This record gives sequence, C-alpha cells and structure tokens, in this order.
Amino acid sequence: MKMTTLLENIKNIYRKISYAALRAGRNPYDVKLVAVTKTVSIERIKEAIDCGLRVFGENRVQEAQKKVTSDELRVAGSKIEWHLVGHLQKNKAKTAVQLFDLIHSLDSIELAQEINKHAEKAGKIQRVLIQVKLSEEETKHGVPKEGLTAAMKAVTGMKNLRLEGLMTMPPFFDNPDMARPFFRELRELRDNAEKSGYVLPELSMGMTNDFEIAILEGATMVRIGTGIFGERK
Ligand SMILES: *Cc1c(COP(=O)(O)O)cnc(C)c1O
Repeated sequence: MKMTTLLENIKNIYRKISYAALRAGRNPYDVKLVAVTKTVSIERIKEAIDCGLRVFGENRVQEAQKKVTSDELRVAGSKIEWHLVGHLQKNKAKTAVQLFDLIHSLDSIELAQEINKHAEKAGKIQRVLIQVKLSEEETKHGVPKEGLTAAMKAVTGMKNLRLEGLMTMPPFFDNPDMARPFFRELRELRDNAEKSGYVLPELSMGMTNDFEIAILEGATMVRIGTGIFGERK
C-alpha cells in the first residue's frame, strides 16, 4: 500500500472518530486510536509511525516480540506504546510483561496472578483491562459478566497490576448497529462497578466495522486494523 493511502486511511479514521465523539457530546481527544498491526510488516508500521501514529496493538506475543524489539521502530524522543489485544496464554505472561504497556485481554484470575508475579519480578506495574465476554460465542475469550466482580476484586488486590478499565469484543455483524447493545452493556457494567468504588476510566471497544457505534456508547480506546492497513492477507 502506498504511504499516501495509509495517510488517507488514518485521516479518514480520525475524522470518523471525531465526528462520532462530537455526536455523542464527547471530546474527540478522549478516544484513543490503537492501530492493530497483526500481520502488518515492520516496514508498514514504520510508515504508520511516520504518519503520526504512536499506539499499536498486537494479538500474539511471538509476533509482537519482533516488532516491539525492532530497532527500526524506535523513534528518537518519542514513546511508542504497544498493547496486547489478543488472548494471552499463562506461559507467555512473562514475555507479555516485558513487551506491553497495556494488556487489554486479561480474562481470568489465574492469568492475573501469573502476570502479577512476573510484573513483581520485573519491578513493573502492569496496566491491564479485564476482557468481558458478553456473547455466547465459543471462540471468544473473556470473563463472563457473572464473574466480573470477583475478577475486579482479585485484580485490584494484586500489587503489581493496575486495572484501568474493561474491554469487549462483540460478535461480528454486517450491520454495526447490532453490536450496540454489547457496547452499552460493557459501559453499564463499568458504570455499576464505579458506583461500588472501582475506578475504570478506559473502555476498549470497537473495531473497523463498528468503532463509531462503540464511541457513541463511551469507548475510550478503539482497536482498528483493516481500516488503517487494509485487508489482512
Ligand atoms: C484484529 C483485531 C482488531 C482489529 O480488527 P479490524 O476489524 O481489522 O479493525 C481489534 N481487536 C482485536 C482483539 C483483534 O484481534
């Protein structure tokens, strides 16, 4: 893909983010764009950095490792943030702690314990979001909503984790309006948790097909791959 196309795509996404935020009576700057770079080459990520992007999401530890540690993607005087948006296996927790600024996909108390253990050894406070499973799909990971209170309690009790919010991934619908009840439900779960004293500023929800709807329901992080980099091969 030519760089002009990449820049056009990014401008287009920012325009849509702004418009959706304004429609919702929100500040567009309160919505963070996480550019999802799974299957995207280092060369193209470099181009995206040259277009001004600074926050990237990967869904696999092994693939991310090459990119996060790549010298080509270091920018003098500028911090690149790497987020893990895909499922994390317990045996990869140690590497994940080394690589990622934010883990969106914390989906069990056992995994939290493992991340906390490695974060403690590394002397790091690991930022995390709890992924909540709101649909019945077998393929989706996440804490079931019935287990959310217990998970939040456990995670906030772990010294080397900092719980910043919730993430969800609704089923894919051709019509993105169909995803809206899932986004609304995540926001309501967050609002209720905040009434009980939790502080959960971040809602990671919305992908290429449905991020505008997610923003209308309060998304603070949208995870966009295809809309920026084109179809994955
Ligand atoms: C791939 C992926 C995305 C981005 O999906 P697009 O439809 O390409 O925008 C977002 N979140 C997660 C968890 C992903 O795996």
